[in-house]
Amino acid sequence: MNKKQKKMLARIIISAALIVLFSMLPIDGYVEFVLFMVPYLVIGYDILKKAWKGILNRQVFDENFLMAVATIGAILLRDYKEGVAVMLFYQIGELFQSYAVGKSRRNISELMDIRPDYANVETDGKLEKVDPDEVAVGTIIVVQPGEKIPIDGIVTEGKTSLNTSALTGESLPREVAEGDEVISGCINMSGLIRIRTTKEFGESTVSKILELMENSSSLKSRSENFISKFAKYYTPAVCYGALALAFLPPLVRMIFMGLSPMWGDWIYRALTFLVISCPCALVISIPLGFFAGIGGASKAGVLVKGSNYLEALSQTKTVVFDKTGTMTEGVFEVNGVHHSKMADQKLLEYAALAESASSHPISKSLQKACQKPLDRTRVTDIEEIGGNGITAKVDGIPVAVGNAKLMERIGVTPMDCHHVGTVVHVAVNGEYEGHILISDRIKPHAKQAIENLKKAGVTRTVMLTGDRKRVADSVAAELGIDEVHSELLPADKVSRVEELLSKKGEKETLAFVGDGINDAPVLSRADIGIAMGAMGSDAAIEAADIVLMDDDPLKIATAIRISKRCLRIVYENIYFAIGIKLICLLLGALGIANMWMAIFADVGVMILAVLNAIRTLFVKNM
Ligand code: ADP
Ligand code: MG
Repeated sequence: MNKKQKKMLARIIISAALIVLFSMLPIDGYVEFVLFMVPYLVIGYDILKKAWKGILNRQVFDENFLMAVATIGAILLRDYKEGVAVMLFYQIGELFQSYAVGKSRRNISELMDIRPDYANVETDGKLEKVDPDEVAVGTIIVVQPGEKIPIDGIVTEGKTSLNTSALTGESLPREVAEGDEVISGCINMSGLIRIRTTKEFGESTVSKILELMENSSSLKSRSENFISKFAKYYTPAVCYGALALAFLPPLVRMIFMGLSPMWGDWIYRALTFLVISCPCALVISIPLGFFAGIGGASKAGVLVKGSNYLEALSQTKTVVFDKTGTMTEGVFEVNGVHHSKMADQKLLEYAALAESASSHPISKSLQKACQKPLDRTRVTDIEEIGGNGITAKVDGIPVAVGNAKLMERIGVTPMDCHHVGTVVHVAVNGEYEGHILISDRIKPHAKQAIENLKKAGVTRTVMLTGDRKRVADSVAAELGIDEVHSELLPADKVSRVEELLSKKGEKETLAFVGDGINDAPVLSRADIGIAMGAMGSDAAIEAADIVLMDDDPLKIATAIRISKRCLRIVYENIYFAIGIKLICLLLGALGIANMWMAIFADVGVMILAVLNAIRTLFVKNM
């Protein structure tokens, strides 16, 4: 419990004790009134203040107003005990609610307990624990078995296996050795490793994830907006309803039936009606449901940046993929060098040098295939042309490395390649110098991922790629993707997605899945942008609405299932809360339900709705 909650608990205990005490005293009249005003103000002063402020701000109709009117009314009717008790129970409900919300938030953060508390820096042979925030880029830090990696970096010494489950939901450990990149938040399972940090703590994966988690619940989804709209009509409606209930029946009795009006009875009913109408359960369970859904998704390695995306995701009918890095590993093998006039190794070296600054999977693969340390100072004037390739100067000589489009651009006729595979043409000094045939592997789960999407209700799968038609068609056929468009520039991808967006139904959404290399614009254009978190570029993670921590395409269907379940639970709560509310309102108007019942009904509905919402946190292995 935090300080505020403790204070509230104290107020509740004091006023409850006072109510019990005063009820036992033989008092009546003014003395009773004055005495009961003490617990009333102790427990309710903040509600009265908020209600008054609401009136001043002309935002009259909210739950504070409802509570204030109902309790003041009860006091005017000399039902002092009831008036104070209503306020008391309302506050107990509020306390419970804030406790439950706080607790589930804490649970969620604990579940993804990834925040590192310290980093080990070695000074003069001694390990010193320092705040990760204070570690400069390039520092060597030591991570012992059982410790969390505090900052992203590269292993400089030692090997071990890492538990990445907090980040990816993946239970298989990942083996790393010298030279491998490691991300913060993983747990070191076996050996001692030394890491040279490549980022500051604030820029490291853990910090980014925590930041996303903290911001995620601020974006409101449509169902949440539904609540504020609902409240706008609902609260005035019940207020006028209560007024009508207080005045119309007595007037009718008096004027048309010649009976005694029984003002007190009807005003009491109207006040009960007001107390019943307070929509606490609804107001609390919806955001909590979404928050729990987001927590459940992150446990499965899917980071959702806001509840509105969870809602959109549940309506996904079209999923569009990028190929390289999304459906394929993005790690190319060099299969051969063809039509090369210079030595193969030399051609590779030229290509790798020109590519030395790019983060495209092709360039990384070429650099690796070159097997030599590359002297980057030999390369100048690097220009990367999205969906085409690279031009640069190596030792002052112009070099172009890319696809046929790039060759045409610089006025060189490329030689066609008859093999299946991605072709990287190389031109040196304006002359065609041959091409490198490379191939990528389809991700192991890619085919299953497409099948699962169909099972999750996706009706259309589309692949967009900048690669050659031959490669694209073979990948699409192997995976069973419905539609494929190849040889696209980044801008073409955007227009394709726009075309698909215009064709889909109103209640359907389109998701684009990519690694952000040459497709960050599409990620933000689609209804839902899904990025590969481990492989993807920072730009992609920034532009995306949903991030798959372990790059596994299977997780797309998992995310859709989680979102559907979350939305179902949220709607269950909405219908349940409104349904019970309407029944109670009716009973209140008929004079069957009194204020005590009203209060218990509301607290009960709230507890059930909260428990139901928390259910979204627990995702079965989907
Ligand atoms: P995808 O849509 O499959 O992710 P990209 O749009 O990233 O592919 O790239 C499309 C094509 O452009 C690649 O298949 C390649 O032929 C060429 N290309 C892009 N960037 C590079 C690069 N850095 N080096 C060589 N070729 C490149
Ligand atoms: Mg790509």
